[in-house]
Amino acid sequence: MDAPLHTCCNCKQLKQLTEFKLRMKDDRHGKKGEPTSKCTECTIRSQISRQKLKRKHDNDDAEEPMDLCNNDLPENQRKG
Ligand SMILES: [Zn+2]
Repeated sequence: MDAPLHTCCNCKQLKQLTEFKLRMKDDRHGKKGEPTSKCTECTIRSQISRQKLKRKHDNDDAEEPMDLCNNDLPENQRKG
């Protein structure tokens, strides 16, 4: 009995369909219930790297607005 195999678009490995997450909803890439193009392993790996990037990005963003607020404060106080 042949188990259906599916190629991961990220690591290019043939894997069983059980290694892939199924789509939660219809979108332009496929229909609900179809396997996603990345295997679970690659999906998790990309999620982790995205979280690391986002955390670094958040830290970068946090510094700029605070500087702007500090520059705005003296002017507002002078007016008020
Ligand atoms: Zn993969």
